[in-house]
Amino acid sequence: MAGAIDELSAWLDASVDPFVACDADERVRFLNSAAERLLGWKREELQGQPASRLFPQRLHQYGGRSLLRYLLSRRNALGGRATRVLACRKDGVEILVELTVGASGQGADERIVINFRRLHEVIDTVSEPMEHTLQPEAGPHPEGSNGDALYRVVVENAPLGIFHFDNTPVVTACNERFVRIIGSPKRILVGLNLLSLRDERLMQCVRRTLSGLGSDYEGNYHSVTANKSTPVHIRFAPCFDETGHVEGGVGIVEDITERRRTERERDESLAQLGTLFRTAPIGLGFLDMDLCYVRVNDVLAGINGVSPEGHVGRRPREVLGPIGIEVEKVMRRVLETGEPMEKRETTTEDLGMAGAPRFLAGSFYPVRATDGRVLGLGIMIEDVTDRRLADEERGRLYHEAQEAIRVRDDFLSIASHELKTPLTPLSLRLATLERKMERGEHVDPSTLRHARQHLLRITGLINDLLDASRIEAGRLALHPEATQLDALVEHVLQAMEVHRGSHSVHFERPPEPVLVRADPYRLEQVIANLVENAFKYSPDGGAIRVDLHTRGDLALLSVKDPGIGIPPDQQKLLFDRYFRARNVSSRSYGGLGLGLYISRDIVERHGGRIWVESEVGRGSTFHVALPRLTGATAQPPVEQPDRLVH
Ligand code: ADP
Repeated sequence: MAGAIDELSAWLDASVDPFVACDADERVRFLNSAAERLLGWKREELQGQPASRLFPQRLHQYGGRSLLRYLLSRRNALGGRATRVLACRKDGVEILVELTVGASGQGADERIVINFRRLHEVIDTVSEPMEHTLQPEAGPHPEGSNGDALYRVVVENAPLGIFHFDNTPVVTACNERFVRIIGSPKRILVGLNLLSLRDERLMQCVRRTLSGLGSDYEGNYHSVTANKSTPVHIRFAPCFDETGHVEGGVGIVEDITERRRTERERDESLAQLGTLFRTAPIGLGFLDMDLCYVRVNDVLAGINGVSPEGHVGRRPREVLGPIGIEVEKVMRRVLETGEPMEKRETTTEDLGMAGAPRFLAGSFYPVRATDGRVLGLGIMIEDVTDRRLADEERGRLYHEAQEAIRVRDDFLSIASHELKTPLTPLSLRLATLERKMERGEHVDPSTLRHARQHLLRITGLINDLLDASRIEAGRLALHPEATQLDALVEHVLQAMEVHRGSHSVHFERPPEPVLVRADPYRLEQVIANLVENAFKYSPDGGAIRVDLHTRGDLALLSVKDPGIGIPPDQQKLLFDRYFRARNVSSRSYGGLGLGLYISRDIVERHGGRIWVESEVGRGSTFHVALPRLTGATAQPPVEQPDRLVH
């Protein structure tokens, strides 16, 4: 009997297929040499051990029973076909095998025979990896086994998913990280044909790898078992056997979910920054450490007068010309000291730039990476021209307002003084008159005349004030009619005879009548004001020359005096409201500074112009030009004595 068993054993050992035979309790009774080689157990070690030791722990129970019982129950359904399953070697390595399970005998005599066919080796976490790795008795070649175990540990602990596929191309091994990334159980993944994924890009990578070249794949891996899609990056590398032929390939898998998210966030913030950069209403630019422009926005390009692309790779001296050398010095200082230079103002003129001058406020600052390293220089240039002009305008208005307040205050004190001045002599003369009349004495008509003159002066001042406010309100009415200007001048001069004092007045009437279309009452006012000023601002006995002639369509009237003259810078201001030139002190020359203001308004509203020529100490000539009226008859001037005297 023993001989028969030995003979049977010898036959079974000769078989290339690994066999394991178990009893009804699923304890191993026998394994042949091929099984020993495949599973790493010596026959004696495994005999009497539960057959479950040949399978990974997680498969011990299957469908509510032991794996073997499950497979036996499925035997008919499988019709003799093998089942792929993971077996477990003695050293803990999982291997993919094809099993066929058969049974004979009944009850306690039942024998179960398992036929293994090795498919691929599966690298798996061994239950106690370190101990297995370090145990020298782990195999007949301790160093080699140690090396394998170490290799497994390294692969298993690698922070990347790793899988191997053969050239069919079926996945033959993978680590746990790969399982976690992909989200399908290892028993599904190992044995998975990559072709079944129907991902053409992935297939291209696999084909390329199997042709002996490396390749990279990036895409979404759709789990075959779960509804999970994982963005992955796979680096493929071919594996060569000892003969140098490609036997398969390895894939290093990285879950790039996080990287994708970071990239998306980075892209979004870059897009936002890009928009900001492009649309910001200020000039922005970035230069590298060699002070070459890396990027500028349109506004800065516009300020520099060079297209954004025209900046790239060039230095400020190449873009801005000689002034760029100075600019570079400042920039270099900023990079050296790390201190920004903020809001320095300059003008395009100073920078030697063409076009209308603009005011610019520029800031240079070091641009740092998150670790504090200086990457280059940032530029911010703001065109502050509008703000500067607005500031200047505000300053000017403020100055004008101050001036207006000063003029108003001056005017009030002058006006009250001017109005009061004639009142005192008027009141004195009226008192004298009263006294004389009470006493029944003779009343000298000159007392009355003088009293009347003072009254007329007050009236004149009040009239000027009223006219000025009418002009301001745009309500100074004109009643133009055909007027003979030469007769009007003569009339005014006659009426002013009483005010002439010791001055002499020369006027030669032109040979032909000079006709204008004007409001004679207002024109008298202008002529009287000019003549009165000539009297007022020239020394006693001075000769006043009044001239009237025509030139083309114009009637030209001038009043020339040999008086104190007017400083050049004051001449064009004379016609402003309340303006009194520096040449006169309010004490020695009374007046409200309204006569010329009113005169200018009247002349200009007649379509004419008024101006002065003057030299300090040598006298002044006031000119009035009015459009002539041709082909009409004029009205004689009407007596308006009260208007003629201030
Ligand atoms: P007023 O004579 O009442 O001050 P006007 O408007 O007539 O006001 O004149 C404005 C200012 O112009 C005068 O205060 C004076 O400084 C200057 N001015 C006018 N006429 C003469 C003149 N003929 N010679 C010198 N200065 C003159």
